[in-house]
Amino acid sequence: MTRPDEKAQRHRSRMQRKKKVIDTAIASADRDQGLLLVLTGNGKGKSSSAFGMVARALGHGMHVGVAQFIKGRNDTGEEFFFRQQSNVVWHVLGEGFTWETQNLERDIETALRGWAVVKEMLNDPSLDLVVLDELTYPLKYGWLELDTVLADLKERPLMQHVVITGRGAPEALCDVADTVSDLKDVKHAYRAGVQAQKGIDL
Ligand code: ATP
Ligand code: MG
Repeated sequence: MTRPDEKAQRHRSRMQRKKKVIDTAIASADRDQGLLLVLTGNGKGKSSSAFGMVARALGHGMHVGVAQFIKGRNDTGEEFFFRQQSNVVWHVLGEGFTWETQNLERDIETALRGWAVVKEMLNDPSLDLVVLDELTYPLKYGWLELDTVLADLKERPLMQHVVITGRGAPEALCDVADTVSDLKDVKHAYRAGVQAQKGIDL
């Protein structure tokens, strides 16, 4: 049988080896740059993760721009909260899902007007972080041209971070992104009949 002190010694050596590997990996990631992040997939957590990064950035005194493309509701906790903070500009650029607006021409016009506002943010080096919430939908429906969006993202200031959320992110967008998370839907309370809960879903 292994004596407890032998077990502890083995654990210590294993952790020392592990620490060396991890420290080396951390030390080799030594560049700073503005990142493009894509949060996609059918699971919950895309927008709330993006707004978590907004909170982090504001905590560091950074300046943040938020654009919301599909506006299902105007009573979310994040909108109430972040609109009260200095250093945040908050734009609502979409009207609602296409089955709610039921007017394709108007959807396209709204999306193009919205993108003009985003372009200004992407040209503004004083914005450290730009969140494009639910941008994947106008792309998916073809209201915005993917090539234009990719070109404008590429032209942004070198140190500006951009977070894009929404289901079904196009492959070409994920290809140029630095960090991509595909949130998996394992279970959602909604399907068990629980309506959207304040603080959790809105
Ligand atoms: P959240 O804002 O909560 O992070 P999300 O951005 O990942 O959600 P969306 O597709 O934008 O997801 O959906 C927004 C709303 O729908 C939220 O109220 C969220 O809780 C809910 N929702 C998210 N995923 C699911 C799902 N798989 N089934 C049902 N409702 C969902
Ligand atoms: Mg969302």
